Amino acid sequence: MADFDMDSPTTGWSGFEDASNLNQNEEALANTVVPTRRDFLLLAGMGTAGATLIRPAKLFAAVGAAKPEKILIPAAGHAAFASAAKILAKKMKLDESAIVTYNGAPKATAGAIVLALAKEGKLTAADVPKMDGYTVTHTGGTVVWGARPRSVLYAAGEPNHWVGKAVTYRRNPDFKIRAAEYHADYPVAEQTAIFGANFYTARLPAMPALQTLPEVFSQMSAADQQNLVVTGERRKADNAARVKEFHDADVEVYALLPYGNSFATWSAPLYAAAVKAYPTAKGVPMANSHESAALCPSDPLSWNVLEAYVKEWAEQCGADGISATFWDNYSAFCQDERCKANGLNQFPNEVYEFLSRYYALLKPMGQKLHMRTWSSGCPHWLGTNYVHAPGYG
Ligand SMILES: [Zn+2]
Repeated sequence: MADFDMDSPTTGWSGFEDASNLNQNEEALANTVVPTRRDFLLLAGMGTAGATLIRPAKLFAAVGAAKPEKILIPAAGHAAFASAAKILAKKMKLDESAIVTYNGAPKATAGAIVLALAKEGKLTAADVPKMDGYTVTHTGGTVVWGARPRSVLYAAGEPNHWVGKAVTYRRNPDFKIRAAEYHADYPVAEQTAIFGANFYTARLPAMPALQTLPEVFSQMSAADQQNLVVTGERRKADNAARVKEFHDADVEVYALLPYGNSFATWSAPLYAAAVKAYPTAKGVPMANSHESAALCPSDPLSWNVLEAYVKEWAEQCGADGISATFWDNYSAFCQDERCKANGLNQFPNEVYEFLSRYYALLKPMGQKLHMRTWSSGCPHWLGTNYVHAPGYG
């Protein structure tokens, strides 16, 4: 579970700021340039759609070292190598023609930066990178040894730490999971290089139609039926291309479910159809509560539609997992007699029920479940409504 606030414009990558307490050489620290994550926030605030995060860096003026003229990558390497080489070339003010492939084992080469997997070399135990980190050696030429493909992207994002140096540079992350929220305006490889992230949540748009539940699907107008089906197919294709971009950067992506659990806001036509097909599934909200209750979690028919929807969402996204949110306005706060009797009128039991069911649903699909929620704070008034803060409902 994660308790960071992804709605905030800055905290999606604050986890990395926390995670950036890494092992660094003193020499490297002395030459550190302006943090590029701040540059990103500045660029993002300017609304630079379709832009690049990568800008040429002043890397050699300070150290006075000879500038490498070639970047060598394995010919049969993972796609992350080519992306890392392009990022590095741009930062070093080299033309992309400076990127050359090599076959066989990586070899340190004078005047070149060689990108390689650590397992392809003969590193000492101290130099073998930990987790998804990397090590840069400078014997006979600079070689970036990545623990795995994405590691060379991290190296490409911060050449100021290691390029033109003589001392071995080791970059070993302290945190196994470093989360960021995907920003659709920039390439995934660039975001990975800049943030050092390896886990993304992303708003991949899906459009379930619930054709698997004919009794619900048939309640919709022909126009709504066609719109959902056609849009869903198009989005599935778009999502496949997007997810490939994450995997080409060797990082995981979790598709965000629509906010909360309100089937009414997830899909207005499907909700209308569901309560027509299953009248008993309609929830009973508490008077003057900020929470609503689109569907009653005690009614098995509610789970027919909720589970079918989440399954179809996950199928259309084709991501590594699904990310669900249980926050204010999660909309499963049903207060009917059934829920009062079995305890599903309370947030902790509701969240457990949803979590268990989503997990059981996604596991056979080979998808993981990420959930964010909170349980701090206290109930309070919001205008004329009462907010039942989760955990205090
Ligand atoms: Zn209920």
